[in-house]
Amino acid sequence: MARAMKTRTAKRGGSPRGVATPRRKEHQGWPVRRAGGLRILESRALGKLGWLVHGFSTRPGGESVLDGKPTLNLGFTDWDERARVEKNRAAFAAALGARKMPLVALRQFHSDVIYVPSAPAASPEDAPRADALATRAWGFLLGIQTADCVPILLADTRQRAVAAIHAGWRGTLARIAVKALGRMRMEFGTKPADVVAAIGPSIGRCCYEVGAEVAQAFAMQFPPAADWFDGPFEQLSHGEEPLWLPWLTMMPPGHVPPPPRVQLDLRAANRWQLMDAGVPESQIDVSDLCTACRTDLLFSYRREGAKTGRMMAVIGVRAAKK
Ligand SMILES: [Zn+2]
Repeated sequence: MARAMKTRTAKRGGSPRGVATPRRKEHQGWPVRRAGGLRILESRALGKLGWLVHGFSTRPGGESVLDGKPTLNLGFTDWDERARVEKNRAAFAAALGARKMPLVALRQFHSDVIYVPSAPAASPEDAPRADALATRAWGFLLGIQTADCVPILLADTRQRAVAAIHAGWRGTLARIAVKALGRMRMEFGTKPADVVAAIGPSIGRCCYEVGAEVAQAFAMQFPPAADWFDGPFEQLSHGEEPLWLPWLTMMPPGHVPPPPRVQLDLRAANRWQLMDAGVPESQIDVSDLCTACRTDLLFSYRREGAKTGRMMAVIGVRAAKK
């Protein structure tokens, strides 16, 4: 996990850890597939494409146990048993109607490395180090794992190629979504105008506090960066110290005010990148579910720390009908 993902949880919104969150509208507009005791979020835009399989996993159900509840952890975390995670992955694929499609997963490291498999790996141990996958081959699933970072699925409706992308702040800064589109163009002849994109549940602007170094890095890279931040973005991104005097006079002696923070909207940044690369706005489907606000339904590393699970976003091309 990147450094910025490990820092403290924002207090705004949601309930403290361990306290039940009141029931809210479950999926905020995205269809939910219920199968085998699991709930899978789907993008309407991708759901219209009959030649592909896709889905974003959620927390409830599964073989793992977290806070005394059955939990669909799809990542090989320290607290969970490998065999349970493998069962969870199989149950997830079955719920997607893709029981026979093997999964290609990654060892993610917040990079801009894109892996292009032409066949499934022989075993899960073969997972390559990368943060995005793209293929035009059919019969297997591409999967990326998240627990706050932004999962992005792409489908080229003309060439019938697909991609799955993991974008935290480092990957977003490195324009991993744009690089995945570029790789699809190179490998498959993909045109951005033919691409349908789904940006899945991730930590929202409401809960994602970052420091001056992230604000500055984004300000240097992206003209519209100011639109993606709340808080003293202008001051932080220009390296100016905010005015301390009002703080200092309010603080008891010996207390140092907290360093100023801003809140970042990673989804907006990735949506803008896709549009800037030529994907039509009407073809980008964005979930507004926040992982940190909705730990009843999703996993949040920021809110829950190391003892949380991983969700998976998967996409794959179905076998051609004979
Ligand atoms: Zn939130």
